[in-house]
Amino acid sequence: MRNDLKIWRLIMDRIFEMEKDIIDNIYGVLSFKPPYSATVTTVLRCYTKIEYDVRFRRIEMIPTRFSTVLGIIFDYTVKNLLKDKGFEEKRYSKKYVDDEGNEYVIYGDPDLVMGDEVVELKYTSMPLENLPLEHHVYQVKMYMNQSGLNGRLIYFTPNGVREFLYDREEALTDEEIAGIARSFFIDKVSPRYDWECQYCHYRSICPLAVLKTEEEEK
Ligand code: SF4
Repeated sequence: MRNDLKIWRLIMDRIFEMEKDIIDNIYGVLSFKPPYSATVTTVLRCYTKIEYDVRFRRIEMIPTRFSTVLGIIFDYTVKNLLKDKGFEEKRYSKKYVDDEGNEYVIYGDPDLVMGDEVVELKYTSMPLENLPLEHHVYQVKMYMNQSGLNGRLIYFTPNGVREFLYDREEALTDEEIAGIARSFFIDKVSPRYDWECQYCHYRSICPLAVLKTEEEEK
């Protein structure tokens, strides 16, 4: 059998280009020191994981989890399907101040802005009954705060699709977003969600790792 990966390499090259743009957008605005700044997706993650990635230069330029590859392909496909339907790709930024006067500039990059909605696209293998996931809802509601628009969260899964709609009045408030930013930059919450450790490449060397219980291992 021939060993010729040229088509897959072309696909991977394209995925690499797209992933590189995303990573540049995320890490290009990250500041762990005042003036604090980061993207919405960054402040919703484990502080230590992000700090390790930057410190040890372990930012993955190409995804190695297949679900992430599928997510990128889903994102790309939907944008192409809708390309003549008038959507925009926008970057928002807004400053939030916590009750001690610490300032945080938070950048928001929703997948699409269409009409009066910010739209976020997700691929997941989670069962439909577990959706939506809390950090995805926060993500959309933070974009809603920044844009003043309604929100739509679309899931694509092996078992079907789901959409969740949010009215602009349901956006997180400035105070709530300042609280999330504070928990990341000042409190350094690690992990933000226990499940993050199961997917984290530092889990065997991280003193803060939350290990699975025996029951979960089974
Ligand atoms: S193992 Fe858990 S706490 Fe440690 S860096 Fe990874 S996600 Fe964060």
